[in-house]
Amino acid sequence: MADPLKEQDIAAPALELVHHAAEPYLNSLPERLVHDTALDSLIEELTGPLPEQGDGTMAAVEQLLAVGTKAAIHTAGPRFFHLVVGGATPAAMAGDWIATLLDQNAGLWVSSPLASRTETVVLGWLKELFGLPPEFGAVLTPSATFANLTGLAAARRWWAERHGVDVVADGLAGLPQLPVLSSGLVHASTRKALQILGCGRDTVRTFSRDDAGRVDLPALEQALQALDGAPAVLVANLGEVNTGDSDPISAMADLAEKYGAWLHVDGAFGLFAAVSPRTAGLARGIERADSITGDGHKWLNVPQESGFSFVNDSTALGKTFGSWGAAYLPTLDDEQISYNMHGPESSRRARAFPIWATLRAYGRVGYQEMVERHLDVAAHLGRVVDEAPDFELLAPVQLCVTCFRYRPPGVPEAELNDLNARLGAAILEDGRVYVGTTTYRGMTALRPTFVNWRITDPEADLLVHVIREIGPRL
Ligand SMILES: *Cc1c(COP(=O)(O)O)cnc(C)c1O
Repeated sequence: MADPLKEQDIAAPALELVHHAAEPYLNSLPERLVHDTALDSLIEELTGPLPEQGDGTMAAVEQLLAVGTKAAIHTAGPRFFHLVVGGATPAAMAGDWIATLLDQNAGLWVSSPLASRTETVVLGWLKELFGLPPEFGAVLTPSATFANLTGLAAARRWWAERHGVDVVADGLAGLPQLPVLSSGLVHASTRKALQILGCGRDTVRTFSRDDAGRVDLPALEQALQALDGAPAVLVANLGEVNTGDSDPISAMADLAEKYGAWLHVDGAFGLFAAVSPRTAGLARGIERADSITGDGHKWLNVPQESGFSFVNDSTALGKTFGSWGAAYLPTLDDEQISYNMHGPESSRRARAFPIWATLRAYGRVGYQEMVERHLDVAAHLGRVVDEAPDFELLAPVQLCVTCFRYRPPGVPEAELNDLNARLGAAILEDGRVYVGTTTYRGMTALRPTFVNWRITDPEADLLVHVIREIGPRL
């Protein structure tokens, strides 16, 4: 086969293969196992040495489809509650295929005014959705980790400038350690972002008043005071992965204001609290943050590699990322934005397309309904486990997370962690529902998270059913 030029007529038929596989695959999601471990061995069919001649377009695509549709973890379906993983709405999925079809390079205005303008449009829509001022700067990122990197890079630039150093041009040499203060709810990706920025993964100081990690505001204030006017970064967490808990954003914004600190809010999924009046109180104050992180591939339900970063100072991103200095790159411009000047990527895909499609398709009301359905599912499961004699709800249900453990009568406390760890592993092995375990306040707990647009009450009930079936055997 060799040179793809010889197969240029095969592009559309190859897409037909995907199209034909899509319908039965999508229709199977409500019924099939989330993970069928018996099919894992199929993955081996994809291994082997680099093909010399190649099998040709159709054979390659057929094989990947055949293995993929069987051996995938079917996170797209309604029974995946592990981690915090969204699905892809029908419009988002099609929008993502369009991103592939058109294959725009969304880094530079000259390489795609279409992608650039669409990105500006969706960033505006997202600001509206979350109640952020339209003047905020923003950029789409591949993930919340990258959004944390983006926001904290802007924070680092601001902080270095306060010390008289241009960190973008000259780096960190000669600067003190960047003071980063947070609560015990801080996510590992904030640490990773700081690590990448040369500020150190383990430098985050956390101030908690209890073993659930909830913020100790007086201690946090004391630490800010002790900095004696030196600039610092406060990280507030909106939606934490164990229980859905959040820091008090307004109170932390007050502290940031009082002590002249940069406030970064990690709202990877918690930002969607702003979408419903029932939970909007949790997000109150985000408009006072200097930088905010959100995820697209979680509660927005667009395909993987989608996040967003917002900054209060609309020039902050350009100042942080716009300094390539390469002669062939255009300068920053308000209308004709080259988004590679606003974030850590250079060439990038048009991840605005799936976001545009899903927001166009379902609007603010559609997202409010979906978010509220998930709030209801989490609360429903919370009630079920709270009332059951063989379960223990470990934290109040917040947002889309229900944190609980299996606790059949008669099992001593000392054995519960081991029992729940084995239960967690057995649930994954079973594959009908997918849920992870975590350590919460020293207890091994299950923490199903409901963000996939397909999830309704019966899927959460199935989790209880599966546990009651598997649990007694353990
Ligand atoms: C998921 C998550 C992240 C990291 O998101 P990725 O998209 O996986 O990089 C960061 N913060 C919080 C609170 C999260 O839930």
